[in-house]
Amino acid sequence: MKRIVVLGGGFAGVAVARRLERKLRRDEAEIALVSRDNFTLFTPMLPEVSSGGLEPRHVATPVRAQLHRTTFVLGEIAQLDLAERFVEARHPLTDAMTRLEYDHLVLALGSVTSTFGIPGVAEHTLALKTLEDAETLRNRVVAALEQAVVTPPGPRRERLLTFAVVGGGYTGCECAGELVDFFRSILPFYHPLLLADVRMVLIEAGPALLPDLPAAMGRYTTRNLSRRRVELVIGDGVTHIDESGITLKSGTLIGAGTVVWSAGVRPSPILASLPGCEHARNGGLVVNQDMSVIGCNGVWALGDCAWIPTKPAAEQSDKSAWYPPTAQHAIREGPALADNIIATLRGRPTKPFSYNSLGTMASLGARRGVAALPGGIVLTGFLAWFLWRSYYLVRLPGLDRQVRVAFDWTLGLVFPRDIAELRLYTERGQHQAEADAGLDAPPRP
Ligand SMILES: Cc1cc2nc3c(=O)[nH]c(=O)nc-3n(C[C@H](O)[C@H](O)[C@H](O)COP(=O)(O)OP(=O)(O)OC[C@H]3O[C@@H](n4cnc5c(N)ncnc54)[C@H](O)[C@@H]3O)c2cc1C
Repeated sequence: MKRIVVLGGGFAGVAVARRLERKLRRDEAEIALVSRDNFTLFTPMLPEVSSGGLEPRHVATPVRAQLHRTTFVLGEIAQLDLAERFVEARHPLTDAMTRLEYDHLVLALGSVTSTFGIPGVAEHTLALKTLEDAETLRNRVVAALEQAVVTPPGPRRERLLTFAVVGGGYTGCECAGELVDFFRSILPFYHPLLLADVRMVLIEAGPALLPDLPAAMGRYTTRNLSRRRVELVIGDGVTHIDESGITLKSGTLIGAGTVVWSAGVRPSPILASLPGCEHARNGGLVVNQDMSVIGCNGVWALGDCAWIPTKPAAEQSDKSAWYPPTAQHAIREGPALADNIIATLRGRPTKPFSYNSLGTMASLGARRGVAALPGGIVLTGFLAWFLWRSYYLVRLPGLDRQVRVAFDWTLGLVFPRDIAELRLYTERGQHQAEADAGLDAPPRP
């Protein structure tokens, strides 16, 4: 009996385990999956959670509900020994250790928010990467309005009512659009504050919004967000952030009380220290086209933590020809990687991963969106937004989750968004976020 251990219960890890379950005979291998969360987070809907449009639990599908004969271990990876071929995971609540030995190890640990070493980012901004991030952001917005409504007009109130999103990629644009919708929906509860009192700023260092997507999408997004009173700062990067706000390269100071950092991600930091493997500059694991990790026999990697080449090394003239870190790719890489493990177990050759992107979509809120489809087709406006909603609703794992999200959306047509500020999120989440951001967090209590 061979032992296959998958690390990470996100899009990639679950896709691998599901395919292994489907294709491997029970007597061929045991499958175990280790993850520090017992759910798969559906990140495309995270901006809507941060604006109170969706309930947090509705975008989190339990791993156990998606798998049937895989042993699920809830735990934080504490040790990864590639020489002795074992993994140790620490239970997040009890600290109890579980040791798992493997013949094949799949690394699907995803990515964390990257601060790019910019001073003050880790201490003074909120990320939008985890469920805790989204709920923290929603609570922060509500708390800022609660404070502002009892603060007399002046610089302090202006700071409380200035919100900034850094990063004009699809996550940043979606977040800014969703926050504007949130303000519009809840400001009637905060009389005498008006929409005109709230300043929403979106900052992008590159030459346009959505810089990696077709220009028509960036142009539409610029027009749409400007019309909805989002102040756009394009072509000016952040140099540092402190209590007074954001300082830009041009020297401009934006006195924002709430800053969302959505400027990029880097692979899970655990992998950066793995000996014997080839690492990319940002710490990701460089793999062969079949997703086996270069230099580590029996170890495979995929998803946001892996650098998967689009062509064989000999043909790769452009070193940047790698599959991008998106959920769309992760869910296709999973089955392909599982098939390669099965081929290896059965003594057959592995196959290179190959996939042509279906396109990219972003929802800007207010029933508007942008979409790039195969064949160079670009859709904007209501149609793109409707396509976004239909596609992602179908892709959300679990029929029950799909129904709950559809209900949230339907109720959202009738009722305002909720302003109950629930401080449910834990010290554990805070410590995790600090550790991911590279802060010297004290040991978890
Ligand atoms: C706000 C937002 C919106 C996005 N929108 C889109 C979109 O519209 N379309 C799209 O294609 N992509 C989107 N993405 C990107 C997409 O989320 C990622 O590419 C995708 O999640 C990668 O899948 P993964 O399985 O590699 O990593 P993840 O989904 O991040 O999974 C990693 C797993 O590893 C676990 N883990 C991590 N560290 C440890 C540890 N130390 N110990 C134990 N377990 C650990 C985590 O709990 C998690 O379960 C979005 C991302 C964000 C943040």
